[in-house]
Amino acid sequence: MVNTKNIRKSICEVGKLLYDRGYIDASGGNISVRDGDKIYLSPRQSGEHHQWTIDEDSIIVTDMCKIPIIGELNKITRESVSHYYIYNAFPEVKAIVHAHPPFMMSFGSAHMDIPAVSEGTRCVIGTLPITNIEESIPGSSQQAERVVENFNQRKKIDPECGLICSIPFHGIFSAASDLNYAFLFVEVSEINCKILINRQIMFGNNPKADLSIHHQITREEINSIGQDKEACEIGFKYRDPFGNETVYQGQKSPLASNVSADLISKITEEVLRKLKNS
Ligand SMILES: [Zn+2]
Repeated sequence: MVNTKNIRKSICEVGKLLYDRGYIDASGGNISVRDGDKIYLSPRQSGEHHQWTIDEDSIIVTDMCKIPIIGELNKITRESVSHYYIYNAFPEVKAIVHAHPPFMMSFGSAHMDIPAVSEGTRCVIGTLPITNIEESIPGSSQQAERVVENFNQRKKIDPECGLICSIPFHGIFSAASDLNYAFLFVEVSEINCKILINRQIMFGNNPKADLSIHHQITREEINSIGQDKEACEIGFKYRDPFGNETVYQGQKSPLASNVSADLISKITEEVLRKLKNS
């Protein structure tokens, strides 16, 4: 669970989580969060020197141009340029993860795009394949520009897609509306790659294997997933928790629909008052 109220703590927690799950390694990976006009960043070499057991006080806070507010300039992650470029290009982005997930990197180290196949990936980041930027010098403004260009291309095709891209032989960048989602993009994409690799190993040469997607999930269908739905058809006969044979009337029981919100709040207040006085 990410503590979004305490940004510095949440960066430490997500860093450890990414490290423990093997999405970042001792050689690299970094995290940042935007809060208003401030950027919070993980310190450099968090993996190499600390195996991501880092202290909240080590998180550096700067303005939008990397001028330190808390912490020292030379302690900021070496990949910070890409983080600032992304924040300045996409106002909606509030958190960024740069990771080294090995299954995603297996595609990147062959310059191959990653098709979205798992339900999680297609629903969370969309149906667009995750594509590679050109091989770039790590930590450079060249890399930063290419990541921003990749994200712009994605948004041009699908404005609602998740922002994630691969850097060949190096890793990935994920950018989202909060740190939960920046983490989620990495996790669903890495699992998606595990599935692709596993099914290739298991069924790649089996003519009986059908690797095609039979139903392309539309944006409308994705948006409908969270909507409340009836679990049973109206008229369904069942036994209620008191052992009575009953007929399902729908989520809105006749009693509930006849009771006003005002009356419910009056009853609640009365019960609370009695509890207080008892
Ligand atoms: Zn890296």
